[in-house]
Amino acid sequence: MRRVVPLILAMIWLASGSRTTAQDDAQLEIGGGKIDVIFSSAPAEPLRDLVLRWVASCARAVTVYYEQFPVSHLQIRLRFFEGHGVRGGRTTGWDGPAIAIAVGWSSSASDFTEDWVLTHEMVHLAFPSVPEEHHWIEEGSATYIEPIARARAGDLTPEKIWGDLVDGLPKGLPQPGDSGLDFTPTWGRTYWGGALFCLLADIEIRKRTRNKKGLEDALRAILKAGGTIESDWPIARTLEIGDGGTGVPVLRELYEKMKATPAPVDLSALWKELGVERRGGKIKFDSKAPLAAIRTAITQSKDR
Ligand SMILES: [Zn+2]
Repeated sequence: MRRVVPLILAMIWLASGSRTTAQDDAQLEIGGGKIDVIFSSAPAEPLRDLVLRWVASCARAVTVYYEQFPVSHLQIRLRFFEGHGVRGGRTTGWDGPAIAIAVGWSSSASDFTEDWVLTHEMVHLAFPSVPEEHHWIEEGSATYIEPIARARAGDLTPEKIWGDLVDGLPKGLPQPGDSGLDFTPTWGRTYWGGALFCLLADIEIRKRTRNKKGLEDALRAILKAGGTIESDWPIARTLEIGDGGTGVPVLRELYEKMKATPAPVDLSALWKELGVERRGGKIKFDSKAPLAAIRTAITQSKDR
């Protein structure tokens, strides 16, 4: 039985503390998690407000995807730089879950709505640290899930997500000399090769469960078993627990297939099956495509 996403409450109040800028810091409560936002220097009120809204919307997106905020307590250490936009983004778990990120002083509302970095970092909270050769699954899952979580929360359109996958996934395909995901630590194979693994897993899980389960069920099971950024897990345990969440051994089988061999994928054929077509710079969907229902289920929240 699925759990319905609880009503997400975002409560913001001023945190008390001993730092000189403590009055500017804030704590948000979203999806059962407390998020401390700690500013390196005091922002002007309009910027502070934009930052807190942005943190809240990213936290809501991951909460919709995982049905809970991934950790009970997160510290966001926020620095400012001259200019606008969002930079950096680093998630660590060794000293309690923490995200370090930088924001431009002149950032506008659209800089924050366009940002993908903070949601990506929050997805990292919901996955265990695995040995270095499997780094692609940490970056690949964050790359794949970040836009899906934002779409399910209503912040991105399916056209945007599939368009970005059509543009991005070719960078994850094996190049000559590739030795599989565990043995080819290039940028393309780490981020987009890992994302390709996740998309293929998502589709296969849905095929085998008549679209009743998806990759989110595997990832929620990993999170529920304690597989957060704070834990160090071997890959075998991670995938086994993930498969337990869907009832089908898709993650383990796909890993065996892709870990040490190139395992090329015909992306054009895949887009056709899913009913995704780029036409004149625009993404068009074919509702009669064989995997159209699976495509729709990937970006649509079942609870909305
Ligand atoms: Zn990352």
